[in-house]
Amino acid sequence: MRLLLVEDEKKVADFIARGLRAEAYAVDVASDGTMGWKLASTVEYDVVILDLRLPDLSGAELLRRLRQKTNQKPVLVLTAQDSTEDKVETLEAGADDYLTKPFAFAELLARVKALLRRPVEKRNDVLQVGDLEVDRAKKQVHRAGRRIDLTAKEYALLEYLAAHPGQMLSRTLIIEHVWDASFEGLTNVVDVYVRHLRAKMDDPFERKLIRSARGAGYCLTDEMG
Ligand code: CA
Repeated sequence: MRLLLVEDEKKVADFIARGLRAEAYAVDVASDGTMGWKLASTVEYDVVILDLRLPDLSGAELLRRLRQKTNQKPVLVLTAQDSTEDKVETLEAGADDYLTKPFAFAELLARVKALLRRPVEKRNDVLQVGDLEVDRAKKQVHRAGRRIDLTAKEYALLEYLAAHPGQMLSRTLIIEHVWDASFEGLTNVVDVYVRHLRAKMDDPFERKLIRSARGAGYCLTDEMG
């Protein structure tokens, strides 16, 4: 696992890098935002640890640039600011987690490990199944480059299926994740919405992506069979 640490305070950077290397991680250290951006945009890091307050390019700006790229790497932000507002802003800017200084190394390590355990699909803003693209940031769907207009519920259903490609998902499971706790309707609501989805994103195309198994549920896949 290769990590990038962007931190301008040499003492802090040395302390973190030493600790991480002792845990057998490869660590590159950037001492300012510009260098951090250069490294982050050319090397496929597994986790980026980013100090928010940097002398040149700010951590928030670096984070925004990173998030504009489709391939999302997990980012842990280090912040000296302890206000809720800053934390919310940090998370909204696309950080996966944050840690307020000062912190114990053990906590940083635990958070880095948690980020490394996250499945890749959760970090990707664009889910892709065959020629279907679901952009989770923009809530837009394209198939073979063509924009597909969906209602909010149809979109939520498709996003859930696309986040679990190749997995047969039961109607009950789908309802639990796509409808909220107040839903008391019949499970055939899933069948109704799948029918709507198929009409919009499968019927006009030769290759069908939504599969069903009687009794079992639904699955989104590009695989034959
Ligand atoms: Ca700093």
